[in-house]
Amino acid sequence: METNRLRGDVEAAFAQHFSGGPPRLFQAPGRVNLIGEHTDYNDGFVLPVAIDRQVMLAARLRSDQEVRLWSAHFQEGSAFSLTCIEPDSRVAWSNYVRGVGSMLMKLSPELRGMDAVVAGNVPIGSGLSSSAALEVATAVAFDALSSLRVSRRDLALLCQRAENEFVGIKCGIMDQFIAALGQRGSALLIDCRSLEYEPVPLPANVAVVVCDTMKRRGLVDSEYNARRGECEEGVQFLRKRLAGVRALRDVTSGDLASYGAGLRPVVRKRCAHVVHENERVLLAVAALRAADVAEFGQLMYRSHASLRDDYEVSCPELDLLVDLASRAPGCLGARMTGAGFGGCTVNLVRAEMAVQFAQQVASGYHERVGITPEVYVCRASEGAGEMAVAAMAQAAHPSDSRPCRGACRSVKPRSRPPS
Ligand code: ADP
Ligand code: MG
Repeated sequence: METNRLRGDVEAAFAQHFSGGPPRLFQAPGRVNLIGEHTDYNDGFVLPVAIDRQVMLAARLRSDQEVRLWSAHFQEGSAFSLTCIEPDSRVAWSNYVRGVGSMLMKLSPELRGMDAVVAGNVPIGSGLSSSAALEVATAVAFDALSSLRVSRRDLALLCQRAENEFVGIKCGIMDQFIAALGQRGSALLIDCRSLEYEPVPLPANVAVVVCDTMKRRGLVDSEYNARRGECEEGVQFLRKRLAGVRALRDVTSGDLASYGAGLRPVVRKRCAHVVHENERVLLAVAALRAADVAEFGQLMYRSHASLRDDYEVSCPELDLLVDLASRAPGCLGARMTGAGFGGCTVNLVRAEMAVQFAQQVASGYHERVGITPEVYVCRASEGAGEMAVAAMAQAAHPSDSRPCRGACRSVKPRSRPPS
């Protein structure tokens, strides 16, 4: 579903569920990480882009501290008071909004309530971070309606806390940060220790293509915790031999070669992935700045091999998608993205070949696995913000929606790269 249609739907649903004046519109995008996997919780570097799929809120300020919500996706409502916010186990999606409300109340007890409709076209549970998009869209709506003027960086941090403490998911800062601060046409290099960031423009002639294995992440919680423990074991060992090591971020590949021999073999492999992956992110940024997309692509392939062999978080379906991508027209690089054990790959593809690429990978995967993968050709997009209210008529004739074609159901052909 395209942006204009989504905007029309969310406005129409608001008119249907809430009487009174018109709402204001807020959005936050999903994201995909180009390189830098499992580096965030090691204080390292990541390079995500905000994509052209969003969660939107049509929201109107209330004079009291009540919040009334309607979800277009789940076709159900939820209501609560900002003065006493409890999680609601029956209406799980509302907890992202409740969590953000709860964190904002700690900062600004004068926060006012809202009537809001939530809708989105970030696929839910595919690893494109619809949850962060919902949190950040909510935060931006509350912030603007109550004129709080909290910085985007602080809103991102508060949304992460909402997901960690209120929803109970232990995520890093990347998803909320890119949803809040993404820039059109650019990836964002984020230093997960200092939270310094800089935009890195994507060359005009490449497309970012996401392919979904359609395999939902199973083992992910226990394996994620195991990897975090192994990284911590590596840090404890190395900090006794190297001054100033607080996290694997502080270790170079030279350090690991000199001092890593005494580590348990499995811990050495985990450390090798993280240390090399951090170095790859910085090399990838240098390659982009030099418009060397071929080098960037090679770094993506190396990242995948490292995640598969050293970090051991890939799976046969992800490996197959990367292999198919490497043989498809226009492919510069491919790798798994996200926590692993399922979810998506991210691919850098010559823009003019993106549609052929998507069709070939989708049909190859269908032949081997019997499942048609969702494929998304993405534009690097703007982070969260308020949107101009569209005329209702536009919803009936969205200018940017196109029919899907062939095996790849979600392919959006892109003739022009982001500008
Ligand atoms: P993801 O990888 O997409 O972030 P999560 O499981 O972390 O997957 O978050 C998905 C959850 O976020 C959904 O189950 C729902 O509770 C909430 N969510 C995401 N998008 C929407 C939406 N458009 N409307 C309502 N809730 C949403
Ligand atoms: Mg999520």
